[in-house]
Amino acid sequence: MSGELGFLKELGRSDARLRAIEGKLTDLARELDLLERRRQEELDAIQRRKDEHTELLRRASRRAAEVDELDGRVRAYQKKLDEEIISYKEMEHLREQIRLLREKMDTLAEESLSLMEQGESDEISLREEEQQHRQRLARLDEEMARVRRRVSSLEADRAQELGQRESWAQKVPSHIMEHYKRLLEQLPDPLALVKGENCGGCHLRLSETTLERVRAEREVVTCENCSRFLYWSGG
Ligand SMILES: [Zn+2]
Repeated sequence: MSGELGFLKELGRSDARLRAIEGKLTDLARELDLLERRRQEELDAIQRRKDEHTELLRRASRRAAEVDELDGRVRAYQKKLDEEIISYKEMEHLREQIRLLREKMDTLAEESLSLMEQGESDEISLREEEQQHRQRLARLDEEMARVRRRVSSLEADRAQELGQRESWAQKVPSHIMEHYKRLLEQLPDPLALVKGENCGGCHLRLSETTLERVRAEREVVTCENCSRFLYWSGG
C-alpha cells in the first residue's frame, strides 16, 4: 500500500513541475506578445517618419512647380509685350500683371528654397533615425529569438515531464487516481504533509485514528477535512 503513496507523491511532484513549466510558458508568451507589440510600434513609427519626409519633399516640389508655372506666365506676358502690337492700356495691364506675378513668384521661390533646404536636412536626420531604428529592431529580434528558444526548451521539458507523469499515473490504482484528479481540479496541492497533528494542507487538526493510519503507512489515507492525501514526513 505504501508503494501507491510513493507513486502518488511522484505524481504530485510531476504535476507541480508541470504547473511551474506552464507558469513560465505563460510568462514567456506574455513577454513575446509585448516584444511583438514593441516591434510593430517601432515599424509604425519609422513608417510615419518616412511619410512625413515624403510629404515635406512633395511640398517642396509642389512649390517649385508653382514657381515654374508663374515663370512661364511671366515669360508669356513679356513676350506679348515685346513682340505684339497692343494698346497702351493693354500694355499697362500686362506690366502690372508681370509685376504682381513676379512678387508672388519671389515669395514662392523663397518658400520653395526653404522647403528644399528643410528636405535636405531632414533627409540627413532621417538616415540617422533609420540607423537607430534598425539597431533597436535588431535588439528586439534578438530578444524575441532568445524568448522563443526558451519556449522551445520548456516545451521539450514539458513533453518529457508529461511522459514521466503518465508512467506514474499508470501505477496509481484508478479509484485513487479519480480522487487525485478531483482534488487537482480544486487544489494546487492534492497531497499534504502531516505537520505535528495537523494536515499540512488545510492546517486543521487530524483525528487520532487518521494520524495512526498515516503513520502506519499501510494504506493511502486522506484528510477528513480537506480530502487531501496525507503523508508522513518519513515517507
Ligand atoms: Zn486537510
